[in-house]
Amino acid sequence: MKELILIKNGEIALKGLNRGSFENTLIQNAKRRIASAGRFKFYKAQSTIYVEPMDEEADLDEALNRLTKVFGIAALCRACIVEKNFEDIQEKAVAYFKEDLLDAKTFKVEAKRSDKSFPMKSPELCSELGGVLLDAYPHLQVDVHNPDVTVVVEIRDFAGYIHCKQIPGAGGIPVGTGGRAALLISGGIDSPVAGYMMSKRGLELIGIHFVSPPYTSERALLKVKTLLEKMSAYCGRITMFVVPFTKIQEEIGKNCPEELFTLIMRRFMMKIAQQIAKKENCSALITGESLGQVASQTVQAIACTDAVCQMPVFRPVIGMDKEEIVEIARKIDTFETSILPYEDCCTVFTPKHPRTKPKLKLLEEAEQKLDVEALSQEAIDGTEIVIIRG
Ligand code: ATP
Ligand code: MG
Repeated sequence: MKELILIKNGEIALKGLNRGSFENTLIQNAKRRIASAGRFKFYKAQSTIYVEPMDEEADLDEALNRLTKVFGIAALCRACIVEKNFEDIQEKAVAYFKEDLLDAKTFKVEAKRSDKSFPMKSPELCSELGGVLLDAYPHLQVDVHNPDVTVVVEIRDFAGYIHCKQIPGAGGIPVGTGGRAALLISGGIDSPVAGYMMSKRGLELIGIHFVSPPYTSERALLKVKTLLEKMSAYCGRITMFVVPFTKIQEEIGKNCPEELFTLIMRRFMMKIAQQIAKKENCSALITGESLGQVASQTVQAIACTDAVCQMPVFRPVIGMDKEEIVEIARKIDTFETSILPYEDCCTVFTPKHPRTKPKLKLLEEAEQKLDVEALSQEAIDGTEIVIIRG
């Protein structure tokens, strides 16, 4: 029996004239994501994308698993290809659903006939196939409201398809259709979740990470790479920019009031990130800030960091509680990595009494003691690039 994967598009079906290009981006993303699972042929018709193995080696389970993480997919399933005649449908259905039906007590059949030239109408197809399955598996009962197994028969353009396990997709819209944005990623729990959320809305990500050797270790950097690798199962390929931040932090420490340290540092981060973002064709920044979580995440503090930004800053977890963020971190498998106890440059230099209601004027005055432009440029010049493949 020949199988394939059927992908049902989600929201992209609503995108009017853009629909074709959204679908094409989705197909490109999906192709890249399953390339290492073998050779597959892609084609599309009627809001469905078909993913057909081209040879025996193609790993359909692995491809299905990877595709559940591709944004823009509402639902997907593994299906068996049948000829468009009832003989073939019944014969294959009895064999193909054997395990599922032996395990079940109740079932129902659903039919979708988009090829109207097929001689049986949907209700007739349901009752005929239901009868055949009841004969083959006499322990079963029909339950149209809450069945253990729903057998679906789809009669489409190219062929017929039978399946019984539609699974939910990752939702969202295809990565790249919304442009590019730069994620400021720490080793913490929040920023990977923030990146995942914005990528789900169609943004392709670059990652920007600030390091302060020797205060921060190689292991701390590896941790961030691992986080980006995990995220790339959803977000696709991510280019990571590792920015040396030691000198800036030391200069702030030497020249500025301790209580302003964190905010001046955050303003540097945003400024540098913005310059890298511009060069990389990104049109927004993303951070994992959550209102009130720490001193630098009060409304006043955020206003002071935003004052150095000309591009929009997206903070998708701003209104979420920690538990809500953790729930997503667990789902995307970044949580266990995020809680590894390595230092971040933000945690190395923390003032004892940070300002929670900072005044922009005070920050700007304090920064006059530093050559902000030269320090930023030096950090950008020392930036290293790492490609994380999805
Ligand atoms: P996270 O869990 O993402 O680390 P957090 O709650 O610990 O967030 P902060 O440490 O104040 O908060 O950082 C706020 C945001 O600043 C982070 O979500 C991230 O976007 C950015 N950030 C912090 N440290 C770094 C870093 N070393 N490199 C890049 N961005 C960083
Ligand atoms: Mg942090």
